[in-house]
Amino acid sequence: MVEFELWWLLIIPFFFGLGWLAARIDIKHIISETTDLPASYFKGLNLILFHEYEKASEAFSEALQIKPDSIELHFIQGNIYRKLGKIDQAINLHNKLLEQKELNKEQIESVKAELIQDFFTAGFYDRCESLSHELTSEQYQEFKLNILLDISIKKRDWEKAIHFSQDIEKLFGKSQRFPISHFFCELALEKFINKKNEQAVKHLEEALNINKNCTRANIILGELEYEKKQFESAIELWKRIELQKPEDFVLIATKFLESYKQIDKLNECLSLMSHLRESYAINQIDKIIFEYILHNEGPSKAEELAKSNLIKRPSIEVLDQLYSAQSLNNDTNSDVKIIQQVIKNTIGNRLFHLCSHCGFKAKQHHWQCPACNSWETISTELKDIAK
Ligand SMILES: [Zn+2]
Repeated sequence: MVEFELWWLLIIPFFFGLGWLAARIDIKHIISETTDLPASYFKGLNLILFHEYEKASEAFSEALQIKPDSIELHFIQGNIYRKLGKIDQAINLHNKLLEQKELNKEQIESVKAELIQDFFTAGFYDRCESLSHELTSEQYQEFKLNILLDISIKKRDWEKAIHFSQDIEKLFGKSQRFPISHFFCELALEKFINKKNEQAVKHLEEALNINKNCTRANIILGELEYEKKQFESAIELWKRIELQKPEDFVLIATKFLESYKQIDKLNECLSLMSHLRESYAINQIDKIIFEYILHNEGPSKAEELAKSNLIKRPSIEVLDQLYSAQSLNNDTNSDVKIIQQVIKNTIGNRLFHLCSHCGFKAKQHHWQCPACNSWETISTELKDIAK
């Protein structure tokens, strides 16, 4: 036993020595590669770190003059041009690179992939699409499908978008059920607008088959019933949202109230909405009810509601509601109107629908984030960015 331990004491320094040697070889290799790069390359990288893209672009132009054959330097410069919105310069840069005769097949495809991104950013979708079909090697197939999918979304060609998403799912095992359910919803909306309600319903059922929690499908299904004045059916469909994603209820809450009013059961609706507000902390329900009462029953009733809410849940949002109702009363003095305006402006500058993926702030709700293109990442409720 003692001998065995001594043997280990000898072998550990041996392996340590081997590791040290391997590290030295790697470091030597790295040093030989990096010393080959011009100083302006490192200057450019440093400027990128501090988001100084204009200056970084100048540094990489210098670096390119010293090393005009470096494809990687062209790609970095092209990316910076895209970042700066100088798409024509990015396209020129990549086109000139493509004209170089000594590029191999793999390099040609990598330059084309950059050019495809330039065309996409510039909105030249047809050129982007035809160039995408020239990418034949295995390593660009996922990139190609994603670009074709993005083009279909930009062109609002939802059938193609479904087709490419299904291919991505099948070939690369990446779940696309969220986007596909939205593509079916978009198709349904088109049919709905063209009065082809039966086809719209079919697409919405497909959306729910793909993603059973697709609240958007239930919202539209309910709207189809609402348009036909089938208020009870609309209510039943919208009630399902509680089991899917309760916070999305705010998107349909006003029509939900209106439907109950049409069947003379407004009080039942108010208690149901109060349950949703309490159970899922959906604060915006208070504001929706307040506005509904204000428009349908007048400022006095709305003021009563705001006062009672202010006692239960004091907040600047409810104070805004109280002053809004008071400022609409005829006998209100001008001070109340001034205070109301100040509060409204203060809150108005702080409330946004926020994207949980990229932090994008929107004044309106979007199912797809306009900044990062993610689906269902923008909050349905308005969030106070000061909190
Ligand atoms: Zn986003």
